[in-house]
Amino acid sequence: MNGVEERRTATSVLVIGTGAAGLRAAIELADRGMQVLCIGKRRRDDAHTVLASGGINAALGTMDPDDSWEQHAADTLREGHWLGNPVSVEVLCREAPSAIDDLVRWGARLANEDDGRLTQRYFGAHRWRRTCFAGDYTGREIQLTLGRRAAEVGVELRDDVYVTRLLVHEERVFGAYGFDVDDGRRWLIVADAVVFAAGGHTRIWRRSSSRRDENTGDAMRLAAEAGCRLRDMELVQFHPTGMVYPEESAGTLVTEAVRGEGGILRNAAGERFMERYDPERLELSARDRVALANYTEISEGRGTEHRGVLLDISHLERDLILSRLPRMYRQFVDLAMLDITQSPMEVAPTAHYSMGGVHVHPETHATDVEGLYAVGECATGVHGANRLGGNSLAECLVFGRIVGAEAARWSAELGVQVRDRDAIDAARHEIDDLLVRRGEEFARPLQRAVRDLMSECCGVVRSEGGLNSGLARLEEVAGREEHLEVRPDIAGYADLAHAFDLQGSLLAARATLDCALERRETRGAHNRADFPDNAPEMRVNLVWTLDGTVTHELLPPHSSDVDFAERELETPDRLLE
Ligand SMILES: Cc1cc2nc3c(=O)[nH]c(=O)nc-3n(C[C@H](O)[C@H](O)[C@H](O)COP(=O)(O)OP(=O)(O)OC[C@H]3O[C@@H](n4cnc5c(N)ncnc54)[C@H](O)[C@@H]3O)c2cc1C
Repeated sequence: MNGVEERRTATSVLVIGTGAAGLRAAIELADRGMQVLCIGKRRRDDAHTVLASGGINAALGTMDPDDSWEQHAADTLREGHWLGNPVSVEVLCREAPSAIDDLVRWGARLANEDDGRLTQRYFGAHRWRRTCFAGDYTGREIQLTLGRRAAEVGVELRDDVYVTRLLVHEERVFGAYGFDVDDGRRWLIVADAVVFAAGGHTRIWRRSSSRRDENTGDAMRLAAEAGCRLRDMELVQFHPTGMVYPEESAGTLVTEAVRGEGGILRNAAGERFMERYDPERLELSARDRVALANYTEISEGRGTEHRGVLLDISHLERDLILSRLPRMYRQFVDLAMLDITQSPMEVAPTAHYSMGGVHVHPETHATDVEGLYAVGECATGVHGANRLGGNSLAECLVFGRIVGAEAARWSAELGVQVRDRDAIDAARHEIDDLLVRRGEEFARPLQRAVRDLMSECCGVVRSEGGLNSGLARLEEVAGREEHLEVRPDIAGYADLAHAFDLQGSLLAARATLDCALERRETRGAHNRADFPDNAPEMRVNLVWTLDGTVTHELLPPHSSDVDFAERELETPDRLLE
């Protein structure tokens, strides 16, 4: 083991991930009297969840008393183009109101009306106002609330452990292995059950609304190598407007509210191109249409120097911009030294949300590995081919509570605890082997190569030729990965983390390309230039296994309680994040 110190610890349930999903599971476990250790690889108050801005859904009916969980379910299934699992969707929509009750009880400062009711606003494609929010900092408020509550109920939390392997013996999990990101000390954590809440894979595209080193696909690698199947990996939501410049900020979200407030999209020739794509709704068209329009303008050569289009709000009064879009004003000043009250923003579609992920049971979120549960953005089932804005935070809280309860039950009922020395040794050697590798390749440029190929071959619009070329390029990058040089230095073990992130990205990219090839249709966020129509026989989930096999999984029918009455999905002035 290279003489590096190893810390060993045991807990009843290990939670991997300190975002909304992981924290909510950990709170439930502690509430049930379980010993729980919750770990993450990034500062506890800065998980990806803090980026969520717009809000969280629950059919509370505080503003629109006609709202119901059934209508919430209908909106979710319809927006997901019928690929969401109706059982999971029903659980989500029934339970979301009590998730909000918990948040309020634990002190979350959600917006209120003067009479004390929670304020709920419209989000795109919802029939009623059902999105609760805390300004445009909803994710941060939820993260802080859950973090505070976790401390109150005695959750042990560490935010310096990078998990490199889930420990499994004969398809039953018994812990995880990893290292301290600061000093490289190894961690061997044994547990009766593991809750896995490690996020998505949207950072494998060049433009992504995730920050550096998060959502690199490591969740998918860890789960798949532990024996889990992945599902619908091709289904990735592209937000129409992310920053394109400067390069290090590429992908950072430009809120839909800019268009809601009257922002105009133009190409490099100054043409208001939405007149050609949706002459009626123009910039307020549905997000997938605007994303497709932006993509087409850029790919057909009418984009800007930085391969974006222009989003202009400067025709509005400066004071109005500052009062309605303060976060955007600050974002462009800080990141691009650009005053959006004077100049247009350069934007392009950005990879935003992983609808696919680890295959789970629709109610319990148990995975294929006994004792292992997956939850939050790393899991799949609720969102189908397109996520309804505001449903992700709700999913984290609803299923976080459920997996907490399930893992507690599993641990309490466990007859025999297993350990497997070979599995632990394999995890140790995996790190040792990386640390002694000497070669001419470095993780960052290879990550970049993955992001380039995914953007060019598997972006907003896909085709068989492009996807096959993506697979060939990916194989070439995987070959170079074998010559990686990993050198932790005095500043920490980031280099080792990058090496594992790269492995995660390679696996997540392969699964995404394989599934995108198999889905020979256009549905929701998945656009195939060579199959531009919806194919009824493809109303199935695609299940991917480590050997590259993709199989079709039928969906159960939806409940007769759910009302699918025809109606307008998108209306102007509704936010979409
Ligand atoms: C700009 C933006 C705006 C959004 N707005 C909304 C919104 O308004 N409403 C909404 O519902 N959703 C929104 N979303 C989506 C939502 O924020 C996320 O889907 C959600 O927060 C995911 O939470 P999570 O707990 O599943 O994962 P994360 O918050 O991503 O947490 C993952 C955790 O896993 C840990 N981890 C990962 N890999 C490892 C490893 N190898 N070892 C150890 N730890 C690891 C990380 O450190 C982290 O603690 C938005 C997303 C973005 C980017």
